[in-house]
Amino acid sequence: MSETFTFQAETQQLLDILIHSLYTDREIFLRELISNASDALNRMQFTQLTESDVLDPDAELKITITSDEEAGTLTISDTGIGMTRQEVIENLGTIAHSGAKTFIQALKDAPNAETAQNIIGQFGVGFYSVFMVADEVQVITRSYEPDAEAVRWQAHGGTSYSLETADKETRGTDIIVKLKEEDAKDFASDWKIKDIIRRHSDYVAFPIYVADDEEPTNKQTAIWRKSPNDVTEDEYDAFYKQYTMDFSNPMYRIHMRADVPMQFYALLYIPSSAQQGQNMFSLRKEPGLSLYSRKILIDNYNKDLLPEYLQFVQGIVDSEDLPLNVSRESVKADRVIARLRSTITRRVIGDLKKLAANEPEDYLEIFSEFGRFLKQGVVVAPQDKDDLTDLLWFQSTHDDNEDEFTSLQSYVDRMVDGQNEIYYVVADDFGTARRSPHLEPFRQRGIEVLYFCDPVDAMLPMGLTEYSGFKLRAVDEADIDLTDVGTVDDSVEEQESLESDSVETLVERVKRVLGSRVSDVRMSKSLVGSPARLISPEGGDTRHMFRINRLLDRDYELPVKALELNPRHPLMHNLSHMLEGDTRNPMIDLVAMQLFETALLQEGIHPDPAAMAERLNMLMQAATGTPVNSLNLSSVMPDVEAESAADASTDAASVDAEPDVEIEDAEFTEVETPEAAVTEDDES
Ligand code: ADP
Repeated sequence: MSETFTFQAETQQLLDILIHSLYTDREIFLRELISNASDALNRMQFTQLTESDVLDPDAELKITITSDEEAGTLTISDTGIGMTRQEVIENLGTIAHSGAKTFIQALKDAPNAETAQNIIGQFGVGFYSVFMVADEVQVITRSYEPDAEAVRWQAHGGTSYSLETADKETRGTDIIVKLKEEDAKDFASDWKIKDIIRRHSDYVAFPIYVADDEEPTNKQTAIWRKSPNDVTEDEYDAFYKQYTMDFSNPMYRIHMRADVPMQFYALLYIPSSAQQGQNMFSLRKEPGLSLYSRKILIDNYNKDLLPEYLQFVQGIVDSEDLPLNVSRESVKADRVIARLRSTITRRVIGDLKKLAANEPEDYLEIFSEFGRFLKQGVVVAPQDKDDLTDLLWFQSTHDDNEDEFTSLQSYVDRMVDGQNEIYYVVADDFGTARRSPHLEPFRQRGIEVLYFCDPVDAMLPMGLTEYSGFKLRAVDEADIDLTDVGTVDDSVEEQESLESDSVETLVERVKRVLGSRVSDVRMSKSLVGSPARLISPEGGDTRHMFRINRLLDRDYELPVKALELNPRHPLMHNLSHMLEGDTRNPMIDLVAMQLFETALLQEGIHPDPAAMAERLNMLMQAATGTPVNSLNLSSVMPDVEAESAADASTDAASVDAEPDVEIEDAEFTEVETPEAAVTEDDES
C-alpha cells in the first residue's frame, strides 16, 4: 500500500528550481549521489566494527552504476547502511544538506531566476540535485538493521512523494533515475558515466563498477599514503577538489608521514579562500579533518586534530596507531589524538613560518585570507602564542602602503636608537590609521608605528603584549615618553608655544565646554601638525574592546578620553587671542566643541558624524564673512550644562546606556570580513 507525503515547503521550492534548471554542469548530480553512497558505505564499515548483528555482513562494500539507454534510466546502487522507513521520511522529505540550506537562502536573496541558476553549482545541493536531470526518481532502500523492511520512495519533483513497502532482499540503496526525455538522456551512456566518475569521483574509497565491468572505474587511491614523489601537482589538486568539492585549487599543501613517535599520514590543504570554508559556499558539510584508521574512515569531521584557530585547514589524517573500535571516550584514542594534534599543529605553523620567511608573497596571500584566524590563535591559545606571533604581519608607517606588510621581527630590526617598545595605532581602516594625529611625534622622530587596522586587530592587545622582550604600546596611551627615542627631525621649524597663563585660561574654558565628554583637557608636548588629539588615560588589553563589540553589533559604550591641545598650533593661538579679547565670544565654545568632535572623528569613534554638518556649515559661514552675532550658534551646541548637571558619570558620548558587554562574549570567529564589517559600519 502506498502512502503519499507532502514535501516541506523549502524542499518544494528547491525542487522547482532544480527541475527547471538550465545549469550547465548538471553532471554534478552524479558526484552528489556517489558521495551519498560513499558516506553510506563508510558508515556501514564503521558500524560493522561495533555491531555484530547486521544484514548481509559479508556483502562487498561497493557502488554499482547501471543504465538502460533505451529506457533512459540510470541506477546507482550501494551496499551501504541503507535507510529505515522513518529515516527515509526524515532524510528525503526535508532538507538536511547544509549546502542546500544555504542555497535556499541565497535563492531568497537572488534578484532573479537567472542568478539562481548560476549559483546552483556553487552549493552542491546534495541528493536533490538529481532533479536537474530526472523526471522521476525512485529510492529503494533496506537498512542494515536485520528486522527493518525495505521501502520504496518515489517522487516526480512535484509537491509530494510516495512511500511503500518494497521487495529488496539485500542491504543498501538503489537510486533509479528516470532521465529527462528531451535533454538528459545522454547521462545513460556508459562512457559518459565513466568520464564523470573519473573527473569527479576518482578518489572515492569504495569501488565504483559501471555496467558489468569487472574492474572499478575509479582509482580509489588513498593518495595520502603514497610517497610525495609519486604524486603529481595535478593529482594533489584533483584530489583536493574531489574531497572538498571546492572549485578552485588550494593555496597550500602539506603532505607528511611520520613513523616515530607515532605512525601516521596526513595530507592537509589550505583552501583558496576563507569564504569557502565558512558558511557561504560550504566546502564540506562541517569543519574538521577526516580521520582514518587502517584505511577505514572513523570520523569524517574530526575537530580535535587541530586547534580551533586552524579549522580552516582541510584534509585527511590516517593513523595505524588509533584503536579501531574507537568509542569516542576511549582513553587510548584520546591520547593518540592529542599527540597527533600537537604534531600536526606544529607542522602547520612551522610550514607557514618557513613560507613567510622564504616566499613572503605566497605567505601574504594566505595571511590575507586566514590571518584573522591566526590572530584569534594569539588571543585564545597562549601555548601557541610565541609561534603564532611570528606569523602576524602588519602594515606600518615604514612603507605606508596598503599592500606592504611587515613582520614583527622586521619591525624590531628597524627600531631606532633608544627605542625599547613596539608601537601600534588602532584604527578602523588603513586610511584612518595613517592620518592619525597620534603618529606625528613618532614620524618626527623616525619611529615606526604598526597599523592595527583589520577590525579584529583591536582584540590583539589582549594576547599580544610583548614581542622579543619588547612591550607593545598603543600610540594613544597617555604616558608614552619619546624624549630619548630616535632623533627629532629639526628641519621642521618649531612653532612658538602659547604662554603658560594663556594655556591655563584656554584649558579651563575648553574643560567647561566639554564637561563630562572628556576625562581631562591638557596641553600636549608632542603634537606637531594637528591642533588636538584624544588620548587614552587607561592602559590595559581590553581598551579597544568597544571596537570589537561595535563590530559584532553588540552594545558598547564609547570610552571617555582626555583631550590634548597643541599649544603651538595657530588655531590655539587664535582661540587664546579671542578669549583675551572677549570671553563671551560664542565662537570660542563652538570651535572647542568642533575640535573635540573632529578628534573623535579621527579616532573613528564619532557616534554620529553627520550631526556635525550644521555646525561646520555655520563655521564656514562665519569664516566667509557672516557676522558671528547674526548666527544662531546655540542651535549647534549640545546642551552641555544640562548634561553634566544630570550626572557626570554617564558619559555624554555614550551610544547606549546598556552596560559594557563582557569580553568573554566577544567571539572572534563571528567577526565578519573587514570589507563587510566596514561597509555596514558606514551605513549605520
Ligand atoms: P547530505 O548528504 O548532505 O546529508 P542529502 O540531501 O544528499 O544531504 O541526503 C540526505 C540524507 O539522506 C543523507 O544525510 C543520508 O542520511 C540519506 N541518504 C542519501 N543517500 C543515501 C544512501 N545512498 N544511503 C543511505 N542514506 C542516504
